[in-house]
Amino acid sequence: MSDEIWRAVPGYEGAYEVSSEGRVRSLERLDSRGRRRHAMLASRTHCPEGHPYTEENTYRRPSGSRACRTCRRAEKALRTQTRKAA
Ligand SMILES: [Zn+2]
Repeated sequence: MSDEIWRAVPGYEGAYEVSSEGRVRSLERLDSRGRRRHAMLASRTHCPEGHPYTEENTYRRPSGSRACRTCRRAEKALRTQTRKAA
């Protein structure tokens, strides 16, 4: 276990980081490999449960935010079940 701390390289913020161990990493390369960018994209194309935000599966709230229809259905079913059980 190491306590390597990564800091942005002055003048190259968002592109390169240097660690307390003296290592340098390119954030751009990480992106094209799919690490950070993939995590960002995933949150935009999938709901927190991992359902894809396809046109059929996306519900737009009046406020403009997106909601997952699959999750809404599951929530509704759960509420119905709870009501029946009670
Ligand atoms: Zn969902």
